[in-house]
Amino acid sequence: MKPSTHRPTQAIINLAAIQANIENFKKYTGNHTNIWAVVKANGYGHGANDVAQSANDLVSGFCVSNLDEAIELRSHGIVKPILVLSGIVPEDIHIAVNLRIAVTVPSLDWLKLVVQHLEDVETEHLKYHIKVDSGMGRIGVTTAREANEIIALADQSGMVFDGIFTHFATADEVAQEKFESQWTKFESIVSDLSRRPQYVHSSNSAAGIWHKETIQDIERLGDAMYGLNPSGQTLEMTYEITPALELKSELTHIKTIEKGATVGYGAAFVAEKPTIVGTVPIGYADGWTRDMTGFYVLVNGKKCPIIGRISMDQMTIALNETLPIGTKVTLIGQDGDEKITVDDIAVHRGTINYEVVCLLSDRIKRIYING
Ligand SMILES: *Cc1c(COP(=O)(O)O)cnc(C)c1O
Repeated sequence: MKPSTHRPTQAIINLAAIQANIENFKKYTGNHTNIWAVVKANGYGHGANDVAQSANDLVSGFCVSNLDEAIELRSHGIVKPILVLSGIVPEDIHIAVNLRIAVTVPSLDWLKLVVQHLEDVETEHLKYHIKVDSGMGRIGVTTAREANEIIALADQSGMVFDGIFTHFATADEVAQEKFESQWTKFESIVSDLSRRPQYVHSSNSAAGIWHKETIQDIERLGDAMYGLNPSGQTLEMTYEITPALELKSELTHIKTIEKGATVGYGAAFVAEKPTIVGTVPIGYADGWTRDMTGFYVLVNGKKCPIIGRISMDQMTIALNETLPIGTKVTLIGQDGDEKITVDDIAVHRGTINYEVVCLLSDRIKRIYING
């Protein structure tokens, strides 16, 4: 989907905030920290390439979730290391090698398939990181034996053992037991390796913030880089972050409806009294999901409830006064003394801040500012 540029709805992304969030993380953990910026899913909705360009001088590498996201960065001139965090399609291995993209080895079985596709591949440029499933339960090896078999097979093929990593399931929670058991398991597998690679890493934002002893050789920094607390409202941040994204629009239509009149699909809103209704050009096709009914937006520094069902492209709000077409509407961000955070929306929807920003669709135009 192309961004709709002739529409007042826009996400405003403050790249200076992203840079400050990286710098504050470094100050908190010690300036030696090797940060690999996680820019998967279009940089959590913030725009992968723009985020990567502005973070480039502050980080040592990048993580993405699939090959296409890595190709996007390379095609925009990013030359620092890139790691694809999940197993790619084995047939595509030559693409990763040609673009010097490091791959994740999720299992020995996967590597055996890859080995069948190494003809004409310069394996001395094929860097790989072994994924350890220390308790997340998705992908990865669960024993040092399997990891060592991977190393042996990769050695035979001339591949480069660049890293080994794991991922925590509960680093953002108060309870410590699961976290501790994953950490112990990962440490034990690493200590039983036939040799240590350049990068041993396990830390996402939450682990870096609340368990900074686990950062090791690389911090994979995602959510906190965008100025979001990875625990939502569960744990306090340990240093200052600034949210990088605001979502704004404008009123496109204003009218007063009589008592008894209805608004939107299903005639779900029925006016109990004469009501001033404003229309805002955003809907579920923008990732502004239908459960946003009952939440609110800010107009002239005041909360205005979202009424009626959210349509594909529009939604309706109740206003306190008649206002001109073009009046600013804040969906995420500050207006006067009031503020709507991504977490406010996540709480309303019963989800996490990650999902709210990732769902903002490509139709929303992104505007980049610095400060
Ligand atoms: C997404 C992801 C991260 C980043 O997680 P945040 O919580 O956003 O910091 C790190 N590591 C892996 C393996 C991931 O998939």
